[in-house]
Amino acid sequence: ATPTALMVGTGRGAQLGILIKGPEVLESTRRVDTVVLDKTGTVTTGKMTLLGVHTVTGTTENEVLRIAGALENASEHPIAQAVAAGARERTGSALPTPEDFANVPGLGVQGIVEGHAVLVGREKLLAEWEIHLPESLLTAKREAEAGGRTAIAVAWDGEARAVLEVADAVKDTSAEAIKRLRALGLTPILLTGDNKAVAEAVAAEVGIDEVIAEVMPEDKVDVVKRLQDEGRSVAMVGDGVNDAAALAQADLGLAMGTGTDAAIEAGDLTLVRGDLRAAADAIRLARRTLGTIK
Ligand code: ADP
Ligand code: MG
Repeated sequence: ATPTALMVGTGRGAQLGILIKGPEVLESTRRVDTVVLDKTGTVTTGKMTLLGVHTVTGTTENEVLRIAGALENASEHPIAQAVAAGARERTGSALPTPEDFANVPGLGVQGIVEGHAVLVGREKLLAEWEIHLPESLLTAKREAEAGGRTAIAVAWDGEARAVLEVADAVKDTSAEAIKRLRALGLTPILLTGDNKAVAEAVAAEVGIDEVIAEVMPEDKVDVVKRLQDEGRSVAMVGDGVNDAAALAQADLGLAMGTGTDAAIEAGDLTLVRGDLRAAADAIRLARRTLGTIK
């Protein structure tokens, strides 16, 4: 392609809300045949809400919200923010400050609240401490996930105490974006650390058939590599710190402009408005810009 055509392509990109790192990016954009999409914050808004609290006998909703909310208040994860906000709202009081706090990436949070050793996150996080959900909480978890909501387990002092239900909404532009990507001949794949049932519910809502779920943050990059080993040319769309390595590994990394700095730095393109339809626009633009000249 001529430098002029590339500059025109880059300028048109800016008008469409797509920031392109350099003209050479258009070349890889044109070749892409598979689009891997992160779920939370990319296909969905990432703005979660606490929808329900299920406790074991002998534990009150108020206790659960005070203790789990306090710990989550120390985390910036969208789920954590939803739990903390929901806890403040439902208890009508301020949350205590944890005496100790640590993030466990892809699994949840752990720490000390008012003298209790607390875990909040995936069932797998609790299992690492040999804490298992009783039948009543397993049922609550299954029902939440069948409905497309994420179930968060709460334990303290060695016992599972509750399951919290959180959910975020699919962006109203996502289904249209998937349709446009398919129209360009691309195969969409949903990739997430979240539960398989939740991922499948979201995928069905936006028209994606292929789901890779329950992937640890550090393993997202391996999923991209595996697809590349199969001979695919892979675009990855993501917003989180945990998407950065996969964005860098992909033949084309598209970062949500509404996402983290780490994702934006790792990507080749930024979708400024966080609108997934711009991903399809970028690919069409690259094909047009380069196609007309060759
Ligand atoms: P995604 O890949 O969808 O962006 P993450 O890798 O950030 O999701 O998290 C994967 C899963 O780990 C979440 O769906 C949730 O079940 C659990 N999790 C992570 N962080 C937290 C937290 N702070 N509180 C509760 N659960 C968490
Ligand atoms: Mg995300």
